[in-house]
Amino acid sequence: MSHLFDTYARMPVDIVRGEGPWLFDTEGQGYLDAISGIGVCSLGHAHPRVAEAIGDQAGRLIHTANIVGIPLQEQLAARLADISGLDRAFLANSGAEAIECALKLARLHAHARQVKTPTVLVTDNAFHGRTLAAISASGNPALQQGFAPLVDGFVRVPFGDAQAALDALDRHPEIVAVLVEPIQGEGGVRVPPDGYLPALRKACDRHDALLLLDEIQTGLCRTGHWFAHQHEATSRPDVLLSAKALGNGVPIGACLARGNVADLMRPGSHGTTFGGNPLACRAALEVLAVMDEEDLAARSNQTGQRLRERLSAALADHPAVHEIRGRGLMIGIELTTDCGALKLDALKQGVIINVTRGNTVRLLPPLIIDQSQCDQIADTVIHIIQQRFPS
Ligand SMILES: *Cc1c(COP(=O)(O)O)cnc(C)c1O
Repeated sequence: MSHLFDTYARMPVDIVRGEGPWLFDTEGQGYLDAISGIGVCSLGHAHPRVAEAIGDQAGRLIHTANIVGIPLQEQLAARLADISGLDRAFLANSGAEAIECALKLARLHAHARQVKTPTVLVTDNAFHGRTLAAISASGNPALQQGFAPLVDGFVRVPFGDAQAALDALDRHPEIVAVLVEPIQGEGGVRVPPDGYLPALRKACDRHDALLLLDEIQTGLCRTGHWFAHQHEATSRPDVLLSAKALGNGVPIGACLARGNVADLMRPGSHGTTFGGNPLACRAALEVLAVMDEEDLAARSNQTGQRLRERLSAALADHPAVHEIRGRGLMIGIELTTDCGALKLDALKQGVIINVTRGNTVRLLPPLIIDQSQCDQIADTVIHIIQQRFPS
């Protein structure tokens, strides 16, 4: 019997080592990782520069309380400001904690505006993490099942429907913020129509509401830019959440904000024991340096295009395939029926994939995969879909 909580449906393989895009089980069998630990290990596993930075930092200083100055935090915040265009950062340990910080900022913004019942506009099928506030904001009833009472103060509209968001903002003057993913990840790799984020930006300006963008999965070169909202010039957020790939596996999250929004927090308003510790900051600085030097945004764009083209050429007309979509190396293949069994089919072929919302194959391979690894992922996915759903 396992002594772990039974919270995950695990595949029947025990992984003990990784190298680049490869994972190895206890027998030394290798698997091509087409999901990067759910969008975390964008540089691949055991990246030498990240490993070296972590080792060096572990021998200097891993942790000190946030009651002293931490230069590595300052450096990381400055770098994050640089790539996001925002001003200040709160460093946390996970995506959900970054979301909590953003929701607390929204409440501070509301109370500064004398709004009595602060409300945040969220979307169907959203995923923002697993804390109580995050599951309350998320749009999948399965996440909320059994955990009532939830956190109050959310209004929900369909994802990708700018008009529905504008109507909600007109109808509910107590909406003080809009929280949305630029491309939904867990929700099925859903890409909104062009103009969606700019329309939300404009509506937020009109209603003095904050635009909170959850780029925990879409950020850090995954979709071909530092951040996915940068595909459209006029969609700059007030608050931007990052995590997942930021430490390439070392836990770290960040809530970035415009200066006057960040300034709503004062000493004592918010905090964390581990958040922004020197080890995590050093890892994140190295990750950002590698992404920059190797131009992984451009590479993600190119490899993603190749992967999507190959998948489309073989599967676009397949009767079991509803749609192939995504940006950069964030790719979804929605089938017309449930396809959870494909995970094991892929594992048997030596590739690790993920299925989300029951019917969508999700691919988030490391951004460093080469063309032959890209083609191996494409060939495997094509093969297992054709085999399980003969046309
Ligand atoms: C993974 C994810 C989160 C939650 O991050 P954790 O680190 O698991 O708390 C939030 N939002 C999005 C879009 C995510 O993909």
